Amino acid sequence: MRLIVQKYGGTSVGSAERIKNVAKRIVETQREGCQVVAVISAMGGVTDNLLNLANEVSRDPDKRELDALLATGEQAAMALTAMAINALGGRAISLTGAEAGILTDRAHTRAKIANITPRQIHALLAEDYIVVVAGFQGQNADGETTTLGRGGSDLTAIALAGALNADACQIFTDVDGVFTCDPRVVSGAQKLDEVSYDELLEMAGSGSKVMQSRAVEFAKKFGVEFEVRSSLKSDPGTIAKEETANMEDVVIRGISLERNQAKVTVDDVRDEPGIAGRIFSTIAAGNISVDMIVQSVSEHGTTDVSFTIHENDLSGATELLTPLVKEVQAAGLITKAGVAKLSVVGIGMRSHSGVAARLFDCLGKGGINIQLISTSEIKIAVIIDGQDADRAAQLTHEEFGLAKFVPPPSN
Ligand code: ADP
Ligand code: ASP
Ligand code: MG
Repeated sequence: MRLIVQKYGGTSVGSAERIKNVAKRIVETQREGCQVVAVISAMGGVTDNLLNLANEVSRDPDKRELDALLATGEQAAMALTAMAINALGGRAISLTGAEAGILTDRAHTRAKIANITPRQIHALLAEDYIVVVAGFQGQNADGETTTLGRGGSDLTAIALAGALNADACQIFTDVDGVFTCDPRVVSGAQKLDEVSYDELLEMAGSGSKVMQSRAVEFAKKFGVEFEVRSSLKSDPGTIAKEETANMEDVVIRGISLERNQAKVTVDDVRDEPGIAGRIFSTIAAGNISVDMIVQSVSEHGTTDVSFTIHENDLSGATELLTPLVKEVQAAGLITKAGVAKLSVVGIGMRSHSGVAARLFDCLGKGGINIQLISTSEIKIAVIIDGQDADRAAQLTHEEFGLAKFVPPPSN
């Protein structure tokens, strides 16, 4: 019998009506002759509401308690889904992450899965149960509840599919699949039939929140193929898998945007060993994640070091770096909030040249200034003004021929 892991995201279980729709899909899958493990997210908006509440009662909520709180969102949704399945005449049982055998490390709010012992799941499947598992959560070695980082139900589903050696893993969401760009930003965005793990990893890591990047990382590491598809339609979605030879024929697979970024420049700092180390250790000590890092050419023994962080971390970074700037006698600290990162991604870049030139030219013609540039083997990313972000995505999308062909109106 085929074993299928299905994951339903927050919007897909966002109301009683939607939960009933999900239950129907799950029951139909079982009636087609499959064993089903369904991973459920919290109902849309619930995790954000819980986080807001935590921040209202405490300026710095304890991470252990935050996990205990956030995990309740998925637990409510899993129980409701199991009830809805049972109401349709199916036989479902819901399990928390701990009950499902998901063991994590101790890093509350961003725990990593250490291992999965799906004994309970196997036993229930053998008794013909539909097993509904709460996404986004696990348990550490001390028996405390942990969560897997925002969007972590994707990781639960991929990891369970790997551990159960499932025949298929389907990620049901509120769009038809992975698109060339966020379909809510670029109107002509097209659904991709397939995408390589590496491309999706770069897209997810640079703002395309359709999949959690840690989930894609896990899928790549353990070779878990999965499909991203709509929970409201029955059309096939996008298959994410190891790259195949013909995937390189497509130069650019997708474009991502990451908003609410801030740019920080340590201006005119001595170009000597140890300076970069001091700057970034200072930032790391504040638990601030740094994204792009650019150091300019040295002139008269000094250089500029620029990097980007999330806008919310800007005041923290400024506070940490101001004394250091004085200590190392740099000219100053220049900061700019409200910037965005636009990334173009495609494994075809390895074999096609001129992609950077086309991107820069296209943005230049659109009057969009590039503030920082960084590249990887399959990605070119630029920092631009946040206000230009949507237009830049649209222009780039057209430049690389990703836009859907819209026939001219006939008269
Ligand atoms: P879920 O709640 O099902 O996990 P998410 O909100 O996490 O869903 O992810 C789906 C959303 O991702 C879509 O509604 C879409 O706006 C956004 N998105 C961003 N980039 C892309 C992309 N390239 N392709 C598809 N969706 C994208
Ligand atoms: N509910 C969690 C979140 O909103 C996990 C998920 O939806 O995947 O981030
Ligand atoms: Mg998600």
